[in-house]
Amino acid sequence: MEENREMTDSSRNFIEQEIDRDLAEGVYDHVKTRFPPEPNGYLHIGHAKSILLNYGLAQKYGGEFNLRFDDTNPTKEKEEFVQSIIEDVKWLGADFEERLFFASNYFQQMYECAVLLIKKGKAFVCDLSAEEIREYRGDFKTPGKESPYRNRSIEENLRLFEEMKEGRYQDGEKVLRAKIDMASPNINMRDPVIYRVARMSHHNTGDTWCIYPMYDFAHPIEDAIEHITHSICTLEFEDHRPLYDWVVKECGFENPPRQIEFAKLYLTNVVTGKRYIKKLVEDAVVDGWDDPRLVSIAALRRRGYTPESLKKFVELVGVAKANSSVDYAMLEYCIREDLKLKKARMMAILYPVKLVIDNYPEGRTEELLIPNNLENEELGERKVPFGRELYIEREDFMEEPPKKYFRLFPGNEVRLMGAYFVTCTGCEKDENGNVTVVHATYDPETKSGSGFAGRKVKGTIHWVAADTAVKVECRLYENIVDEEKGKLNEDGSLNLNPNSLTVLKECYAEPALADVKPGDSFQFMRDGYFCVDSKDSRPDHLVFNRIVSLKSSFKLNKQGTDSRKADN
Ligand code: ATP
Ligand code: MG
Repeated sequence: MEENREMTDSSRNFIEQEIDRDLAEGVYDHVKTRFPPEPNGYLHIGHAKSILLNYGLAQKYGGEFNLRFDDTNPTKEKEEFVQSIIEDVKWLGADFEERLFFASNYFQQMYECAVLLIKKGKAFVCDLSAEEIREYRGDFKTPGKESPYRNRSIEENLRLFEEMKEGRYQDGEKVLRAKIDMASPNINMRDPVIYRVARMSHHNTGDTWCIYPMYDFAHPIEDAIEHITHSICTLEFEDHRPLYDWVVKECGFENPPRQIEFAKLYLTNVVTGKRYIKKLVEDAVVDGWDDPRLVSIAALRRRGYTPESLKKFVELVGVAKANSSVDYAMLEYCIREDLKLKKARMMAILYPVKLVIDNYPEGRTEELLIPNNLENEELGERKVPFGRELYIEREDFMEEPPKKYFRLFPGNEVRLMGAYFVTCTGCEKDENGNVTVVHATYDPETKSGSGFAGRKVKGTIHWVAADTAVKVECRLYENIVDEEKGKLNEDGSLNLNPNSLTVLKECYAEPALADVKPGDSFQFMRDGYFCVDSKDSRPDHLVFNRIVSLKSSFKLNKQGTDSRKADN
């Protein structure tokens, strides 16, 4: 923390600079932030940004961070979402300790604030319909018109509001409005509705209330009750700030919290809008809210993203005051960087074809010692069985290779990773001309690590011994929408990528991968990082999700997306 405090202004983002100023000027003597989700859906990568930003600020300034459910609108809120949000926030490592709050627990205080405003002559009960209120409100060019109910006496307002609370009116029949200024250039200040009648059962308070506060009234009160110092929200609330300040002030809160806005995070090639995700889930286009092609936090976790990778991503993106869209490839970069040194590099064959080493003694097997990660010795080594029959990737053999193809073709010698040099002698084909078996001979003198080869080969391929291999399922993903082709069709529906999911049912992995647990992740050499699926993987049917391929189609490999082609 000390170190951070000494940093110069230019290394601080604009929110930190504002906080520094507030602390220097004595506006606050501590920092308290919060994340205020509405439990109406699953959290996504954009929320992760907000969570890590708020939590990060509390940490940086030695302050506190609250998790508060903004559950003031019972129509869309569900207990299921409350649970998933708590899980996600914890998983991200944003520690709210015992400070888990529900705005609905403040309904009584909010109600008292409303009564206080009425008593001060700052709120009135209005009988206009929702549509009339909209008409009266005016627009950017036209000032609003005052409601004919605006000058009701305090006594009448108190009585009517009490009757609203008692359930004497139908939904929409009467509302409570703040009395501010119908001519304000800021439309939010034109006597906004602050309470409405809604006969709905609430997930937390049940049927206790039939009036519910509006967001713009409830939110500042929630912040003030919790003594939040910096209420950080996204840009669309900038125009609501005068109302936020008005509510806190008129309701008499001391040490009012301060709202600061930042730009939302948008990502290319993915779907973040709750509305679209909901539709994909309902139409069964995806396998629930945690489908690994989505960017809900649950989906990213299932896919194999780590909290560290998301933290790194959020840091790289930074905090801005202007909306912009971040390339999905940046997220991929962050997970690769995070896993690179942490995970063992194993061998698995996704598109298998048999390789038979004809001069390797039948029935013989040997165990080769292979380092788990050449860049990180601490991960140790493991034994990998080798034998006469192996599986290799189909595309590592070509009967008639193009130029610069350095893998197996008749007459060519390659290294089997961590094992021997083999020279291809030919192949067998079925009646359709598909290669069924590749043949080769090996040179016993070339055992990896023996130093006896005395010659070099240009290609190295990976392999798995056939008789000890574990059959696994691998799921490969592409972006669910392709930004360049347009995210939406003309009719407004999503322009889905038909290849967003490829299921490979017959992959072969080395036996060390036999007893993995859901959530474990590995590098599969030359193929990418994979994570054991937490929903569908079983001990007798392992399912691996590809988190990300090894090389980026973006920046690192300009020619194409197939990492393997760049390998040799
Ligand atoms: P909606 O209000 O439409 O239901 P929401 O995404 O705003 O959806 P909230 O639960 O209100 O959902 O959001 C909680 C917090 O997360 C808010 O403070 C909001 O500003 C922030 N947030 C939401 N989306 C993003 C985003 N894309 N980037 C950064 N912060 C976001
Ligand atoms: Mg919102």
